[in-house]
Amino acid sequence: MGRIRILPDQVANKIAAGEVVERPASVVKELLENSLDAGATSLRIEVESGGRRLIRVSDDGIGMLRDDALLAFERHATSKLRDVKDLLTISTLGFRGEALPSIASVSRLLLETRSAEETTGTRIEIAGGKMLRCEEAALGGGTSIAVRDLFYNVPARRKFLRTEPTELAHIASLATHYSLAHPDKTLRLTSGPTELLHVTPVATLAERVYQIFGGQVLDELVEIGVRERELFLPPPGVAPTEAIAEFRREPDEPASRIFRLAGFFSRPQVQKGNRNSIFIFVNRRLIRDRLLLHALSSAYHNLMPVSAFPFALLFLECAPEEVDVNVHPSKTEVRFRHGSFVHDFVRDTLRERLMESRPAPVFSPTPRLAPAAQPGARLPYSEFSQMIEDEAPAALSIAEAAAAPAPAHADAAPFEALAPDAAFADAALPEFNLRPTAPPPDRLDFTAPPLEIAPGPAPSGKLSRHLDSHGEFPPDAIPPPEMSLSVLSDLRPLGQIHDSFIIAAGRDGLWIVDQHVAHERILFEQVLKQRAAGRMEMQRLLMPIIVQLTPEQQIDYARIASELNASGFETEPFGNRTVAIKAAPAAIAAADLEKILFEILETAEGELRGASLDDIRRGICASIACRAAIKINARLDAAKMEWLLRALAATDCPMSCPHGRPIALHYSTREILKAFHRI
Ligand code: ADP
Ligand code: MG
Repeated sequence: MGRIRILPDQVANKIAAGEVVERPASVVKELLENSLDAGATSLRIEVESGGRRLIRVSDDGIGMLRDDALLAFERHATSKLRDVKDLLTISTLGFRGEALPSIASVSRLLLETRSAEETTGTRIEIAGGKMLRCEEAALGGGTSIAVRDLFYNVPARRKFLRTEPTELAHIASLATHYSLAHPDKTLRLTSGPTELLHVTPVATLAERVYQIFGGQVLDELVEIGVRERELFLPPPGVAPTEAIAEFRREPDEPASRIFRLAGFFSRPQVQKGNRNSIFIFVNRRLIRDRLLLHALSSAYHNLMPVSAFPFALLFLECAPEEVDVNVHPSKTEVRFRHGSFVHDFVRDTLRERLMESRPAPVFSPTPRLAPAAQPGARLPYSEFSQMIEDEAPAALSIAEAAAAPAPAHADAAPFEALAPDAAFADAALPEFNLRPTAPPPDRLDFTAPPLEIAPGPAPSGKLSRHLDSHGEFPPDAIPPPEMSLSVLSDLRPLGQIHDSFIIAAGRDGLWIVDQHVAHERILFEQVLKQRAAGRMEMQRLLMPIIVQLTPEQQIDYARIASELNASGFETEPFGNRTVAIKAAPAAIAAADLEKILFEILETAEGELRGASLDDIRRGICASIACRAAIKINARLDAAKMEWLLRALAATDCPMSCPHGRPIALHYSTREILKAFHRI
């Protein structure tokens, strides 16, 4: 007798559940997607014990007919696909017909639903995949699905669940993202009696971002608006070459396709330690995609350190035929038909917007009150962090602030410095604080609030007017806060601190400019332009410099040699694992040449392996600029400082150096007045 058997449905469902239902948040995701597919305008999520004890999602969507409600729990039962052809044009979030049977096989599930076409509703109860009850019931329209005791019959799976606050944080994060993708819907998330998120319909994404994160966060983001790029496909029959194999056009396809990008992303000075604040939606589906992540980080190339990540909410829209969503059962991965086109479109659009906005980092001396963000958006969420949130962060005394382990910013402290248990170190945890997590150790910490002597209670408006025997500050002398670095063009240098930082007075307040990185930015853009024009200034060496390479460096050298030689170097292999440098960019001292070559190879090895030619070119130009720039600890006379500030103002991107560090800090007049309690 044969040994192969077909698995009973119950076993198959449980196996499928392994892929579909990873944790409570996956259940929430599937149920939310079903409600959205059912055209709901109002969605309610209730959870208890981080979703372990209960997850209930209720909606006002189209509901299910009695027969459909029964069918929904069969494997591969779906109303969203008819035949294989439909798989290529999926416009719903669900299509596999796997979620409900999978969830029902690992929990106790209660479905209550009524379609507008029927006068009574249906109530179905299932436990561990077995139908316990199916009855008529008097119900309102829409659907409610309650999932209790998740994994009660799969002890092995239960053991993998994290602590309740962690699971809850995942759920809150998910609900937050879906609410961002659907600003026109009402969405409410409660955990027991606590409301974590409640948003009502608004007209724009900006309003939704404001509802969820508060105004301060919005200030730190750049809005993309809606940007489009059209992809033209060659007429069918044109034989695709190897290089454009991607751009083959099938006979029944249109000649072009439009891709649209919308959303928000952070200014380069907002730097996160991981990718958890990056949310990418393709056709309103939240996905994880390496190609798009790479496009995003390339946009910040030379604006942000490679080890740092931005905050991003990106919405890419395209024809469903352009993207295959049937890659993984949890539907979080996609494959693009024209991947490199999509990659370049996203990278270029973001970079353009970054350059257009030219934002300045704000040197904020006064601890600001927490923005009016919703608790669900301030992750990781726990009762503990809630408790701390309830105490106004401004109440933190100077002594406490000084003793705290380097909080990045006063209003970030409650969530980042005080995480209650190791579970929060969970790499997958999403976080929404836009401030840098910790200042890099090798830099001065400008983000800490300056010390105030005896900070009394904040003066009320009346009191502060009374205090003005110190001299009235003419109100029209306070310019409106200016975010753009165009104000750099009329800065007046006052002097240097530590022979390293230029202090300058501007139209609006005080500026501190790091002379080395400022010069680095100026040179970087110059070198890049010379490189593009093929006119690098070179110096020929009297004696070639011979450099010994490791085998790994040898491989990297071979990859970048031609780019290196186009960037003002003249190098050639010289025997085994040895390279001769015969000429180099004019700005670099001969003594630095060996070091700079190693530096370039090192970037090629880490950051740039597998990177595009453009990235490699920018990497080389950045290294040249860094070597040639004025060092710190160098005294500058007034004329030099003036020149530096003018040249910086004229750059395309005066806000950060090619390695991503900030160049200028701004202390606005308003902030100076505030710190002196004059307003
Ligand atoms: P899929 O979403 O892939 O079709 P599911 O197992 O998630 O598969 O759901 C099966 C079917 O149940 C759906 O195709 C849909 O017809 C129906 N359904 C599920 N949830 C809802 C809901 N909230 N409102 C209306 N119909 C629903
Ligand atoms: Mg579904």
